[in-house]
Amino acid sequence: MSRSPTPQRLPAVRGTLTADRPLAPLTWLRVGGPAQWLFQPADEEDLAHFLAALDPEIPVFPMGVGSNLIVRDGGIPGVTIRLGRGFNAIRCTDHGRVIAGAAALDAHVARRAAEAGRDLTFLRTIPGTIGGAVRMNAGCYGSYVADVLESARALTRAGEVVTLAPEDLALGYRSSALPEGWVLTEATFAPPAGDPAALEARMAEQIARRDASQPTRDRTAGSTFRNPSGASSTGQAGDSHDLKAWKLIDEAGLRGAALGGAQMNPKHPNFLTNTGSATAAELEELGERVRKKVYENSGLTLEWEIMRVGDPPDGRGSGGEGQD
Ligand SMILES: Cc1cc2nc3c(=O)[nH]c(=O)nc-3n(C[C@H](O)[C@H](O)[C@H](O)COP(=O)(O)OP(=O)(O)OC[C@H]3O[C@@H](n4cnc5c(N)ncnc54)[C@H](O)[C@@H]3O)c2cc1C
Repeated sequence: MSRSPTPQRLPAVRGTLTADRPLAPLTWLRVGGPAQWLFQPADEEDLAHFLAALDPEIPVFPMGVGSNLIVRDGGIPGVTIRLGRGFNAIRCTDHGRVIAGAAALDAHVARRAAEAGRDLTFLRTIPGTIGGAVRMNAGCYGSYVADVLESARALTRAGEVVTLAPEDLALGYRSSALPEGWVLTEATFAPPAGDPAALEARMAEQIARRDASQPTRDRTAGSTFRNPSGASSTGQAGDSHDLKAWKLIDEAGLRGAALGGAQMNPKHPNFLTNTGSATAAELEELGERVRKKVYENSGLTLEWEIMRVGDPPDGRGSGGEGQD
């Protein structure tokens, strides 16, 4: 893998291609180094041409709004792709489908769907994009993307447009089988019908419930570790993960545990938090210490739900996603 694609090796684009673009401001945790190149395509055609012409050796990492990411301090090698305006349209069809661009925010999609009498209320309190939601099979309050996804549109690493059925994505507990470097551009949902006023009321209730139990205004990336499964870890669409990660962390005495600017949130101990000055290395190291201590205390191994991407500060990392 080349560490430094020169501008000459990158295809011409209509969108914006920026070298050494800091990524911390583009993530919820506000940590991490730069993207070697950040590409913000103008539209799907621009992205398809770029991918088709890009040297296959150069790694590609699509990101949403970074609400499930720790970008390591050395940054992300290759090209990071962030979709914007050309990808955030939301349409509700006469046949009850909700079609959303991958850059549309989950909350906006939930609200538009509710206005049209379609129930995507579970997306209202998830602070990511539709691309991230499909990739992660996002869900809460008993509903998941897998329950309502009809199809997803994506570009392969070679720039070909493909339509994926839910089976192609093998959606599992906070996971999918989307191949590395593929970029989701749109998703079609077939949600159940509902009364708009009742859907609106449910969303308001869910916001209040979440604010009461989670540090929604802090710098976090949501749940740090997956809830462990007792017997099976295949985790189909439903959340059969009965053991709660936060309880295991609490029982190990780690609520509020800190390392530098990183802390296991006192309000909800499964929320790894940047209290202001944390580095990505501190956040990741605190997470690893928590995993070790929880294992010693309970015999259970916590698995990261937050994706850790990029290189450590010395630039000698894998450049890939962190492995559990
Ligand atoms: C306060 C808070 C509460 C949260 N609550 C929940 C919750 O209840 N349920 C839940 O499931 N999650 C929750 N999360 C986690 C997070 O919001 C979800 O995982 C979300 O789906 C991530 O979306 P994103 O756009 O921010 O993706 P990112 O964090 O930017 O990326 C996450 C993954 O998605 C991939 N990705 C993003 N966009 C694309 C694309 N267009 N094409 C291909 N791959 C893509 C990235 O490569 C990466 O692998 C929470 C996070 C926070 C901060």
